[in-house]
Amino acid sequence: MAYSVAYSTFANVPPENGGPTGSETTSDISCDNVDSSMEKAIADLPVPPDAQMETATLLDLYSGCGAMSTGLCQGAPLSGLKLTTKWAVDMNEYACDSLKHNHPRTHVRTEKAENFLKLLQEWDKLCKEYDVRNSTCLPRISNDDEDDENGVNEPLSEGTFEVEKLVDICYGDPNKIETDGLWFKVRWKTYDSSHDTWEPLDGLRDSPECIKDFVESGYRESILPLPGHVDVICGGPPCQGVSGLNRNRNHKDPLADEKNKQILVFMQIVNYLRPKYVLMENVVDILKFADGFLGRYALSLLVAMRYQARLGIMVAGCYGLPQFRMRAFLWGAVPSVVLPKFPLPTHVATKRGQHVPTKFSQCLVACDETESKLLDKALFLKDAIDDLPEVENHQPKDVMAYKSRPNTDLQRYIRLNRKDTGDNSLGDSTPKEGQLFDHQPLELNKDDYQRVQHIPQKKGANFRDLKGVRVGKNKSVEFDPNIPRQYLSSGKPLVPDYAMTFVKGRSLKPFGRLWWDETVSTVVTRAEPHNQAILHPNQNRVLTVRENARLQGFPDYYRLFGPIKQKYIQVGNAVAVPVAQALGYSLGQAYQQGEFSGEQHPLFKLPGNFVPAAQATATRLHQGSPAGEVVEEE
Ligand code: SAH
Repeated sequence: MAYSVAYSTFANVPPENGGPTGSETTSDISCDNVDSSMEKAIADLPVPPDAQMETATLLDLYSGCGAMSTGLCQGAPLSGLKLTTKWAVDMNEYACDSLKHNHPRTHVRTEKAENFLKLLQEWDKLCKEYDVRNSTCLPRISNDDEDDENGVNEPLSEGTFEVEKLVDICYGDPNKIETDGLWFKVRWKTYDSSHDTWEPLDGLRDSPECIKDFVESGYRESILPLPGHVDVICGGPPCQGVSGLNRNRNHKDPLADEKNKQILVFMQIVNYLRPKYVLMENVVDILKFADGFLGRYALSLLVAMRYQARLGIMVAGCYGLPQFRMRAFLWGAVPSVVLPKFPLPTHVATKRGQHVPTKFSQCLVACDETESKLLDKALFLKDAIDDLPEVENHQPKDVMAYKSRPNTDLQRYIRLNRKDTGDNSLGDSTPKEGQLFDHQPLELNKDDYQRVQHIPQKKGANFRDLKGVRVGKNKSVEFDPNIPRQYLSSGKPLVPDYAMTFVKGRSLKPFGRLWWDETVSTVVTRAEPHNQAILHPNQNRVLTVRENARLQGFPDYYRLFGPIKQKYIQVGNAVAVPVAQALGYSLGQAYQQGEFSGEQHPLFKLPGNFVPAAQATATRLHQGSPAGEVVEEE
């Protein structure tokens, strides 16, 4: 492999060159130099019909509610690859509920990734032990509740339990007895699913037929991936040990911190399953903390596992969203395939250069100054949310009607229904058209609600506009000694101390209002207004789950599950969907190229009509139907 500094690329040396090419290949990262052969309009690309498209399977690790895989699977077909999320793993049950609802065909596993890895190893052993690949057994229809109701089973005498069948498998400690191991979920004869229990493998040795049946049908239905059966693995392993908010960060030995070990688990799963392609996402802190230790570690693990690798820093706003959001992405590809490139921006995003980790500035996926002038303008908050109905701080309904038509191309795109976006993952159960989900704000308590009512509805307003606060020396806030401190009806102060002391009184964020003509900085997992600008421009509440989801580019049909705080977490954790779409497009491109196809540049230009808004227009023209149909509220 040859290494080049730009995009920290480790890539195959083209056979005809016969040796490392040095650094000259990719050091120039201007747009002039990118692969322009890909810069055709999508409509001009010879995308084969669905049935003839090349197909690939995807495993989404640390999937959250599934934003990353959703975007990848939407973007890949635009370059000719039908990518399907076959498996997803996350330990958070609510995130898994969201994923299951939106992708009913995906095998969703609610478990820790480290247990998933052990399970994969055990599953492979079972498949070998029962020789499933050569089994001639007839397919068994597994309809969980069917047999009980047919009354075919004779009643058993009291206190007798007989295994009817096995319905699930896991590795870990489902009965909380503090020993990890392999377990099967047992359906007992004459009992329904509410009596299912987890039993250890050894306890079931008396029922070998049941194990055999389960393993055979599980193999047929690919309930778990086997080595070599996964084409692509994507995922965002959490690294809470690198967050700037974490005071106990271990600078000297980041790997000693349990909170950082998921990068290793992710790579171990990659090494075990050996997919053709890997895409890992993370916060840019992994490239800053301890001199970028964890970023370098991830890159070197891929290379040590004989994967080509390429690292890019992408800004969500550059792909048609009114949100800045900078994240690190790491591609991996086995030596026999083409390493995917990074898609160049389609939009200008507000510049916040200081966020780029200095040691990795050569990894920023960006255009040079001249080329930037040709890009679409940055989007603003209003582009994403100004068509949504007004809601109160107290909003009990999580389903409502839209009330008005979309105002912008982005809104038209986001309001397209599932089949118009080419997303077939929900099968036949498409949600009822015209319903708006999750347009609910986190309800502020009485004190905060009163505070928010005092924040003026104007651009740049925040707690500094409250009575009694003034800006003193060093641009930090202080109480105005000429004004007595104001109190709320509860007796609590109007201006809380934490707002005055946040970032030594220099922050403008506490109780900050967003404004219509702003690009939001980064959607996070919490919705409290105490240390971030999250107030609606002219309603006295925080942004709703749906408004945050729109800033992340989720389509409106994507419904979220769990208590409201969990919904905010799922949305805040997500990879911005249009970024994942653009990466899906580049994966599809690489896939089509098979093995080597000449010199590889690390960047490429997306087709002119790739951006979401243009897709919405194209869909409308194509179908002759208005997007985002308005349905009157009942
Ligand atoms: N890529 C996702 C977001 C991932 S956020 C998206 O685009 O939507 C990271 C996720 O890792 C969280 O949902 C969290 O529940 C999950 N997680 C954290 N530790 C885990 C572990 N040990 N095993 C499995 N999942 C874990």
